[in-house]
This record gives sequence, structure tokens and C-alpha cells, in this order.
Amino acid sequence: MRLAAALAVLFALAAPASARAATTAIRFGTLVDGQGHVFANAVVVVVDDRVQSVTSGGPIAGGAELIDLSRYTGIPGLIDAHTHITYYWDGTTTPRSEPPRHPAVTAVLAQENALKALEAGVTTIRDLNAAGGVDLAMRDLIKMGKMIGPRMFVSGTTIRITSSAGPPAPIGLMADGVDGVIRGVRQVIASGADWVKMHASTGGFDDLSQTQTFTFEELKAGIDAAHALGKKVAVHSYGPAGAREAVRAGADSLEHPTDMDDETIAEMVRRRTYYSPTIDHNQYYVENADAVYHFPPGTKERLGDFIRRNVDTARKAFRAGVHIVMGSDAVYNGWGLNTRELDWFVKIGMTPEQALGAATSEPAALLGMERSLGAVAPGFFADIVAVDGNPLATITAVSKRDNVRWVMKAGRVVVDKTRRIDTNTGR
Ligand SMILES: [Zn+2]
Repeated sequence: MRLAAALAVLFALAAPASARAATTAIRFGTLVDGQGHVFANAVVVVVDDRVQSVTSGGPIAGGAELIDLSRYTGIPGLIDAHTHITYYWDGTTTPRSEPPRHPAVTAVLAQENALKALEAGVTTIRDLNAAGGVDLAMRDLIKMGKMIGPRMFVSGTTIRITSSAGPPAPIGLMADGVDGVIRGVRQVIASGADWVKMHASTGGFDDLSQTQTFTFEELKAGIDAAHALGKKVAVHSYGPAGAREAVRAGADSLEHPTDMDDETIAEMVRRRTYYSPTIDHNQYYVENADAVYHFPPGTKERLGDFIRRNVDTARKAFRAGVHIVMGSDAVYNGWGLNTRELDWFVKIGMTPEQALGAATSEPAALLGMERSLGAVAPGFFADIVAVDGNPLATITAVSKRDNVRWVMKAGRVVVDKTRRIDTNTGR
């Protein structure tokens, strides 16, 4: 099945652009458009890379190529707001002790991660921290149509304080003091990054420490410098102190923070600071702690405790009205599990529709792409996913990988598993 899907993607890459019909009409049993509408017997007309029209049972214009997905529900292409596409693992040793690779080698290998994202229905990612400019290269190659993968918004390398963390050395540009941080932010943007990422606390993988790193003044200087150049800032913080300072300093999104106090949460609502709680990535670490990562004894218990507090914090933030987005923090063999975060969102009290919004309209707005991404609507990019089941009744219609049967990105079919026969159901 994996091979068949890979071949389907390769075929799409090999097909000359001229072989594509300029106009495609797609039939769905139901279409959830991402703007609050549900179309029965939907017909979506796609011209080149954009949606031209969405109708209920409308006639299909002559000359259009017809794709019949009437057995499935159509939804907007999903957006994963926190990924690490260049963290590639070949399955030997452990993920973080692989030999260093030339950036070009990493770019080629990481296509596997890109494919897994598409197979999960993820057509856009915000990638936050990569070495060697590999994220910039992949973004551009995908944009050129020379590599198949999700549309990428990238931060280049993260900016962090100088520290003596042991090996493996943290990837990132080290910067200290207001002037140093301003220089670092400008360097990252000059390198071609769409976003800036700053580390306001320790923590990552099996390190669950929450110590604040940058001061408020450093965060403020970095965020102001980025905003002055028209770029947004994502701030990593495992702990509440870094999160509180990042919000006050004007961060556009907060990544991971746990144990945030009510005042910080209220300030996030007031400032519309987006929250990417990345709950599932720690569950992924629990599942891979022994066999893959060889984390020390006791790590799974500590991860479990962090997850419980992360869930509590996310629930509190959701109830208060914070804008929450799906961020998988996908690394290595976590690619393909990108949408499991949505199951947690339902656990913290979202309806399936709200959870879907956290992977479509909310991150589209975070990216400043709310008129092009996150909905199946006229003028939007034709990023469309066909799933088996009703995502408004149960989010697993989206979050369970096998339910994603077909994916179109910018008018091009990149995943097609519609002809697969399920031996259990016979369909
Ligand atoms: Zn991350």
C-alpha cells in the first residue's frame, strides 16, 4: 500500500504539466468547506491551481475532467503549524545519533517525510528549525514543482541563547543580548526565512525542563526586529515563564507551553497569540522511548506527567478563547502521525468541527493566508482531501491515517488510494 502510494506520487511528479486538464470537476458525497458550510452531492470545479466554484449537485461543465469521489467527504487540505521536515531517520542507530549529512543529501532523504505528510492529508506545513538551509531549499523545490511535498513556510534555523548543552549540539543560531538577537533575526530573514523562531526556554525530546532562556528585553527586541521586516515570530517555550514573557513581547505564536497561568492565557486572548500545544509529540516519544530513542529509565513517566499538564493547560486556554492550531512537532518516524493532535483537541473539549478548524482556517490565519488556504472556496488554492467517513461526527475520519484516501494540492492529485480494496469492509 505504501509502495502503491509512493508510485502514485512519483507518477504525478513525472506527468508533464500539459497533460493536466486545465479544468477539473470533482464530485464528493459531502463537502465540508472549512467556512461553516456543508454541501451534499458537491461539485468542486478546479481551474489550474485554484478552486473556481463549489456547488451542491450542480451540472458539470463540458470539457472538464471528472473525478468521482462521491463515496468520500471532501475537506480542505490540512495545515500542520509545527513540523521538522528535515529531521530524517533511516531506521538504523537512533534518530539523534546519525552521522552528519551534507544538506543536499538531507533534502533528498526528507522527501520521504514530505510524502508522509501528504498521505496524512497535510498540504501545508510551517517548519520550525532546520540546519543548512535545507528547509529553504525544499520549500523552493516544492514551489517549483520539482519536488512533491506540502507547501512550506519555514523559519530557517532557530535562534537561541549561547549555552553549554551537551551533545548532540542543538541546531540553531546562538545570539545574546538585544543587539545580538536583532542581528540574529535579521540574518535569519536575510537567508530567506518566512518566519522567525526563538527559543525562550529549554526543553525538547526527553528533556522536559522549562527554564526560561531569553530575557523579556531580548524577546521584545527580536520580535520587534522581525515585525519591522514584515515577518512573524514563533516562540518555543516548554515552561510558563518563557511563555509569559513571549506573549508580553508580542510573539505571534507560542509553541508547546505547559503550566501557563490565567493571566498569560487572558493576555493571549487579548493579543490573539496563537497556541500550538503540541500534545501528541510527547505521546509519540512515549511510544518510541525504548525501541527507537533509548531514553533513560523514568523518561516515559516524566513524559506522561508533562502530557497531563499540557492537556490541562490546553483545555484552560481553549475554554478562555485562545486560538489553537494543530502542531505535530513531527520528527523522524513521527512523520505521518501529523494529525493525531486532533484527537487531543477533541479531548480538551473541541467539537470535531472546531478541531478541523484548528488544522485549516486557524493556521491559515496564523500564516496570513486566510484568503488562499484553509477552505475549499472560490479563489482558494485547490488543496482538497477526500476522507472516508464524516469528520463532523468523529474526528478520526481525518486523524486516522487510513481514512485519508485522496489528496489534491494546488490542483494536482498527489495521493490517490481510492482504488484500494479494504479486506475488512470489501469497499
Ligand atoms: Zn519543534
